[in-house]
Amino acid sequence: MYDVIVIGSGPAGYVAAIRASQLGLKTACIEKSFDSEGNSQLGGTCLNVGCIPSKALLDSSHRYSDAINHFSDHGIAVGKPKLDISKMMDRKKKIVSQLTSGVSGLFKANKVIQVLGHAKIIDANHVEVTSKDSSEIIETKNIVIASGSSPINISVAEVNHKDIVDSTGALEFEAVPKKLGIIGAGVIGLELGSVWSRLGSEVTVLEAMDEFLPMADKRIAKDVFKEFNKQGLNINLGCKVTSASSSEKAVNVTYENDGNISDLKVDKLIVAVGRKPNTDNLLDQKCGLSVDEKGFIPVNDFCETNVQNIWAIGDVVRGPMLAHKASEEGIMVVERIAGKHADMAYDLVPSVIYTHPEVAWVGKTEEELAEAGLEFKTGSFPFAASGRALATGESTGFIKVIADKKTDTILGVHAFGPSAADIVQQGVVAMEFGASAEDLGLTIFSHPTVSEALHEAAMAVNGQAIHIGNRKK
Ligand code: FAD
Ligand code: NAD
Repeated sequence: MYDVIVIGSGPAGYVAAIRASQLGLKTACIEKSFDSEGNSQLGGTCLNVGCIPSKALLDSSHRYSDAINHFSDHGIAVGKPKLDISKMMDRKKKIVSQLTSGVSGLFKANKVIQVLGHAKIIDANHVEVTSKDSSEIIETKNIVIASGSSPINISVAEVNHKDIVDSTGALEFEAVPKKLGIIGAGVIGLELGSVWSRLGSEVTVLEAMDEFLPMADKRIAKDVFKEFNKQGLNINLGCKVTSASSSEKAVNVTYENDGNISDLKVDKLIVAVGRKPNTDNLLDQKCGLSVDEKGFIPVNDFCETNVQNIWAIGDVVRGPMLAHKASEEGIMVVERIAGKHADMAYDLVPSVIYTHPEVAWVGKTEEELAEAGLEFKTGSFPFAASGRALATGESTGFIKVIADKKTDTILGVHAFGPSAADIVQQGVVAMEFGASAEDLGLTIFSHPTVSEALHEAAMAVNGQAIHIGNRKK
């Protein structure tokens, strides 16, 4: 009998399993994916076909584009860089395999039992595991569902894994498509669109909504839209794809915009219209757990489901589909199973788009605060006024700090610019400790760093920034 069975080994599941074992709970993690040698493929979407491989390609493609477009600004002449796409892909594969085998090593070190097979919950104490040639029932005191998510398919553009692909296929092109179409201007569309655009594709993005990045700060969304179009992502809003068919020569896409029908011919088409929770064949009817109309498992703030001792975390439950949110839920849940008082600061989950420049934010936007009728003040600082940003030649964008009008407590940090993810992370730490804009303004920041822009934006909240004219009356 186990104390905890974790279903799925993505960033939600593997982190939950390791922490459960650290807490002295007898733990097994069931994973259905396996590699070419029949061993468990640990790490889930994040390590295998998500965060990590996409960041490997974002980094490689950024270096390539830097060599072409920016080395000469620094007085470095390198001639025309030559692209070896198979080497770039090999590098990506090596990083993935280093990290996935790292999870396997961590399981061994922490005495987490790995079980290979598809898990189905029979009831709160029994899980059926089916592998290629066997099936067994495992007994447990608690079940943590961490079965993750998969790309959404749309009937008008069915993925054929050749020239109409999802995000997984878009990480594996063997050559740079001359013309690339992307359905969806969300995080994947922007990140993978950037990768292939930097490597030479002519990229057209078709987004159904009229608004670009509706979850981001309005001014940032506007600047990001302008910048990415300048970089070569041709982003078209309000475009409803009506069909996509593949012929020998091209993928023919038809879409409607404002009543007008247009055609687009591309070599490859990426469908990036969101992800859906993995709950297929996961729940036996008898187990008493149900899923909502979109397939998510309903949970409360502690990730408890409606059945006692069954918990659900990560992409399979509500909230942003992010690896760090998934892992933190994993830790919270097993700590609660171990009898600790853990909870999770859902309002402090940061978001990042790993383009260049990066887009990142935490907390509330001005629009959300205004809608809630809360009074606030803001301070902004442009990277063009940051000495370090200018020295590196990356001074696009700005950072904004939002604070409560009366108490000065920081309510949000929003950035578009160099190292935005790491800078906003400092805002997350400040907010976790309930800091005010003044607190951040009184903190010493190393000079010259791009982080100084956060310092200045925090000081600007109260009209005290040094390197811009912002004095409040
Ligand atoms: P998953 O990682 O999806 O893992 C679920 C695991 O459960 C899988 O291994 C699956 O095989 C297994 N499983 C499912 N059902 C069963 C079953 N019945 N029995 C046994 N095993 C089962 N997030 C970020 O925070 N930062 C990023 O930069 C980022 N980049 C991304 C880039 C791309 C291209 C994509 C697609 C996603 C990206 N994400 C990113 C999102 C991130 O990958 C997910 O939020 C995260 O992986 C969710 O973790 P999870 O553990 O809930 O699920
Ligand atoms: P998304 O929800 O970010 O974006 C999907 C976009 O597709 C939306 O803008 C939506 O309006 C649009 N869309 C939906 N249906 C459409 C249609 N029929 N035609 C045209 N446009 C359509 O989803 P995604 O980009 O697929 O990413 C999936 C998840 O993975 C996200 O929830 C994200 O959190 C996660 N992810 C995170 C990161 C990161 O943290 N940097 C990176 C990649 C993915």
